[in-house]
Amino acid sequence: MPLQWSHVDWTSVGEEATRDLQQLLRIDSSNPPGNEVEAADFVAERLREDGLEPTILTSAPDRVNVITRIEGSEDLAPLLLSAHLDVVPAHEDNWRYPPFAGERKEGFLWGRGAIDMKNMVVMSMWMMKLIKRMGQPKRTVIFAAVADEEAGCHYGSHWLVDHHPDQIRAGYMISELGGFTLHLMGKRFYPIQVAEKGQVELLMRTRGTKGHGSMPKRRSSNTKLAEAIAKIGKTKLPRHMIPIQQHFLNEVSNHLPFPANKLFPLLGTPLGEQLMRILPDEQSEPLDANMRNTVAATVLEAGGKGERNVIPGESRAWLDARIIPGQQPEDVIRELRAVIGDEPELEILDAQLPVWIDDYQDDLFGLMCEAIRRHDPEGIPVPYLLPGFTDAKAYNRLGIRCYGFAPLQLPKDVSFSGLFHNVNERIPVDGFQWGLKTLADVVTSFAGAR
Ligand SMILES: [Zn+2]
Repeated sequence: MPLQWSHVDWTSVGEEATRDLQQLLRIDSSNPPGNEVEAADFVAERLREDGLEPTILTSAPDRVNVITRIEGSEDLAPLLLSAHLDVVPAHEDNWRYPPFAGERKEGFLWGRGAIDMKNMVVMSMWMMKLIKRMGQPKRTVIFAAVADEEAGCHYGSHWLVDHHPDQIRAGYMISELGGFTLHLMGKRFYPIQVAEKGQVELLMRTRGTKGHGSMPKRRSSNTKLAEAIAKIGKTKLPRHMIPIQQHFLNEVSNHLPFPANKLFPLLGTPLGEQLMRILPDEQSEPLDANMRNTVAATVLEAGGKGERNVIPGESRAWLDARIIPGQQPEDVIRELRAVIGDEPELEILDAQLPVWIDDYQDDLFGLMCEAIRRHDPEGIPVPYLLPGFTDAKAYNRLGIRCYGFAPLQLPKDVSFSGLFHNVNERIPVDGFQWGLKTLADVVTSFAGAR
């Protein structure tokens, strides 16, 4: 007999999924170097236990992707669930519990990948198991557990789009980075990602006359580079507001007390530029990142190793530029030129375009909002633009509508962004189990599995 939604035993499913996450956290899939084989085998094995037939696709030695499909009975645009198996490296020193031990302590599961994003690997895996138990859904559902997100998706989602597009072609995609609790002025918001910025990697090079350290050169390459970097660090590029950002500000402010409810929407207007100046950096920086193209100098290189008395002839800086939906790499370069002038050479090393859904308020988004409100009656779903980077960059190339919704309920004293790629990454067990049920509510409804 197919499983009925109302008969799902959420306590036992939640505990089983928690143990799965614990085991997955014990598998070190750090990237670099990147090796997803063991994690992929674990996921594939768990799917097979429910009679599912995962396909393992190898993109390079030790780099694998697992694709699982449940065919729907009707001609509806498929839903793709995607989660990356790799994690950023962790150095044990400052962790309260070792990063690859999967300890369950103090109400949390501790470990690298707990929120980024082995939780979603396990949740997506469970979506497939539950749908399979419920019988054939109306809509086709695909789960891609992918490699290499943390190093640019070359062996994961981008590779799948290039080499196996038919395995993952879908109308909709759900992945990171949204659905977590954002505590703000006593309210619980749940940002749902409907857009993300693009990324342009640039190499900036300056040249000057080489010489001896005893006779300084006024226009050395190092001086020029330092001047350019200081200007970049101190200058805000022009604003580019798109409707999604204003929706976010409006929705949030609807639920804030006076005077925040009046001031917050103004942040999106030209007056907001003045308001932003009175906010502390930790509040204005994320808002700024969401309203303009940004450029950060990340890696600097100049001078030969140990050549402490030689003035180098060339200096280099790697720039990490992020662009707002609708902007092109040339746009940020033009804005950057206005800051640094014409002399420093700029070279585009890589460019990944922004991703966004203009008309995001569709049935799937509606189901996400309803599920948040049903499972957290005080929860307030809000659309938002992610300044960062996800696998959506790849799937967007197939025209898939990409949402970030990996539901996770967090207590007030735990900040999502504070845990991200940080020491003591951890997930509250009850918040994870809450997320599992909330995601299942959305996915089984949208798939027509109940
Ligand atoms: Zn991630």
